[in-house]
Amino acid sequence: MTQRLQGLMQDDFALTLNHIRRRMRSCSPEAKVVTLAQPDVVERATFTEVSERIDRLARALRGLGVEQGDRIGTFAWNNQRHFELYFAVPCVGAVLHTLNIRLFEEQLTYIVNHAEDRVIFVDASLVPVLEKLAPSFDSVAQYVVMGDGGAGSLPNALNYEDLLDQAGPGEFDYPELDERQAAALCYTSGTTGNPKGVLYSHRSISLHSTATLIRDGLGLCREDSVLAVVPMFHANAWGLPHGAAMAGADLILPDRFLAAEPLAGLIEAERPTLMGCVPTIFADLLRYADEHPDVDLSSLSNATCGGSAVPRQLMKDFEERHDVRIFQAWGMTETSPVATFSRPQEGEHGDTYWNDRAKQGRPLPWVELRLIDDGGGEVAWDGESTGEIEVRGPWIASGYFRELDGGEQFDAGWLRTGDIAAVDEKGFVRITDRAKDVIKSGGEWISSVELENELMSHPDVVEAAVIAKPDERWSERPLCCVVLREQADTNAEDLVEHLRGRVAKWWLPDEFAFVSEIPKTSVGKFDKKVLRGRLADGALEGRVQLS
Ligand code: AMP
Repeated sequence: MTQRLQGLMQDDFALTLNHIRRRMRSCSPEAKVVTLAQPDVVERATFTEVSERIDRLARALRGLGVEQGDRIGTFAWNNQRHFELYFAVPCVGAVLHTLNIRLFEEQLTYIVNHAEDRVIFVDASLVPVLEKLAPSFDSVAQYVVMGDGGAGSLPNALNYEDLLDQAGPGEFDYPELDERQAAALCYTSGTTGNPKGVLYSHRSISLHSTATLIRDGLGLCREDSVLAVVPMFHANAWGLPHGAAMAGADLILPDRFLAAEPLAGLIEAERPTLMGCVPTIFADLLRYADEHPDVDLSSLSNATCGGSAVPRQLMKDFEERHDVRIFQAWGMTETSPVATFSRPQEGEHGDTYWNDRAKQGRPLPWVELRLIDDGGGEVAWDGESTGEIEVRGPWIASGYFRELDGGEQFDAGWLRTGDIAAVDEKGFVRITDRAKDVIKSGGEWISSVELENELMSHPDVVEAAVIAKPDERWSERPLCCVVLREQADTNAEDLVEHLRGRVAKWWLPDEFAFVSEIPKTSVGKFDKKVLRGRLADGALEGRVQLS
């Protein structure tokens, strides 16, 4: 009988955030966290200074009676204090619960009560939002206000800086942690049903952080300076804060100044190499940069965009006009979030290269991916056949917090993503739609993502979201909701002409809605549910039917 031979390595070395915390101080003491505290005020702290504050915060948490496993909420923008919480909370064994400040009130109440948050750390600028909700929270015993401003009507409120002062200096004696214990909690911003809690472990965050250093992925290194615009409440800001800490890269945080003008100013002043955010913010920034040709954004040689499909034209325009390189990543709250990254082979920037850049990319190491068709069979990776993406790996969720029956999303060790894609022979994933956004016309699928991509390559189109419109003959037809550039006189016929030859003939839309804005979700994605609702209620503005 064969016997397994055990390896002789330190396999018990726990993959916890304590390693990253220690590493910040020992290997990157001079790296910095930079916060845009006011439009004209930038605050800087070295990793050494931040680490000392993390020690104080850890001691303060203990003083507040925080125990291992307790959920500690944050209601905050991207700033240094939030970053300190990112480490102090998990490193004492508690769970950092980043609350999405833009959710509807009922959803926030549901989430806080579902998670049973004990303490909530809130930015002073957000106190007016939170104080209205506080009476509906069942479990919160303490609030801690961060930054300048009072606590309003929040009960049992302390001030963050006072807490740190009282906690005193010196290294904190952190507890031994198990790498599988929970470190952070983030609820999905799903548009249907109640939000679901994704409970990241120390191990999953540690491994995902290591993956941010992979050159075929984000490729973070200590030469980088990382501007995290993606909110720290959206899937750990896509791992950028942890990744920067691990790499020893500077981390730049814009706090609440997310409009194109302050962001452009921050980029010019701080010269980040990498910036992470959703396409809508990049699109605003592109418009601003086009209108202000003196603005220099060219330090961004390794920007990362995801959260929804990144229009190819957006990437090309940035590269050709502003020397900014944007790469696409795909993932979800449930995948920590980065699961694939598109970094095609360098060389000639011809059609093949740009086609690959416009795809969602190859799975990162440790992420396994398959496509499943309606009948449950596996779909071939031929670049054409489509199916639902299922993924598995050490930073992919295996269930939802306190949901015994997350059932339909989890399929024998695989996460069902609800995204429809084709994968080519090189392993490049191309998402064609969310399952619920697919347009089924005459028994065939039309990809709303592809139509949007092509529409947004028209110079007069600022935003485009395509939804299904019920149709007696075809079952569904595409309805293109379009925002035109100001003063543009492009009409529906022009847009159809633009699409002709770029998409299959039967995809050509016969209806448009010229709207002033595409509604966005709490994390800045096009909110097609709202558009579908308006269509159903007869409230969709600017509709033009072509004969
Ligand atoms: P969230 O959990 O809010 O981050 O949303 C995850 C969803 O965003 C995914 O399931 C996709 O539908 C969508 N998504 C994220 N990144 C991309 C991308 N690069 N291209 C297309 N869709 C994306």
